[in-house]
Amino acid sequence: MLIKVPNGLLEGPDHFNLIEIDELRGKQQNYLADKDLVVGNIGHIPKILEDMVLSVQTEAGIKWRGELVEVIQRLPSNDLETILIKIRENTYGPRFYHEAVCPFCNEVTKDFRLDLDQLKIDFLTANELATVKSVLLLKTNIEAELKPIYLADMFKIVDITKKSNELVTSILALSIKRLGDKSPVEPKDIDNIPASDLRAIQQYMNDAKIEGTIDTNIELECSKCKKEFSIKLNCFDPSFFDPTKGYTSLNTSAMK
Ligand SMILES: [Zn+2]
Repeated sequence: MLIKVPNGLLEGPDHFNLIEIDELRGKQQNYLADKDLVVGNIGHIPKILEDMVLSVQTEAGIKWRGELVEVIQRLPSNDLETILIKIRENTYGPRFYHEAVCPFCNEVTKDFRLDLDQLKIDFLTANELATVKSVLLLKTNIEAELKPIYLADMFKIVDITKKSNELVTSILALSIKRLGDKSPVEPKDIDNIPASDLRAIQQYMNDAKIEGTIDTNIELECSKCKKEFSIKLNCFDPSFFDPTKGYTSLNTSAMK
């Protein structure tokens, strides 16, 4: 299956944003069952990506000639999410059934259906990808340049979340490429930044197009109280690749 990712990689004039992916086989099921890899971790993600990414190319058909592992390390998290979602689609089909708990009445609804091929992807052009994303912080008069979250950052987030002290500054530091003249940016660099400047960074992250995205927010309506709520699809959780989330439910749904 050949897919287009929201961002891709720029290498000189070439924009590598097409990725040929495989379907899951027995070997990858072993990763998903490996407790050391998956419990409280995302250790299965690089292994699945390394096995499943077959080639990377531009729209003109120029193939990436370097190591594919390097591409995986350099793709923003939204590209990785897109690849994981498309691997699931390529393996079990686009229909994904999941359960969700209503935040208003706690009703558990099983078999919410999500069509993975309908998720909205917002693509970045090569020009947008090359543009420096920076914001001037008014209080400190320092410029903050932002960057996407990469695979290595995601492992740091897993560690930070486990330790849970310095949560805010540590996670924010991963999104800042440069603060004034300082790069890379460490959590301690953010400790003394005034809260109003941090708010400006967060505001800019929401408003500016830092990276192309795949919209994994799912709007749902509770079957009991009929109120609407939204959840986020977590394709980094090993259960995302559980085949029964597509098949078992698919059969019951077909009978309705
Ligand atoms: Zn409800």
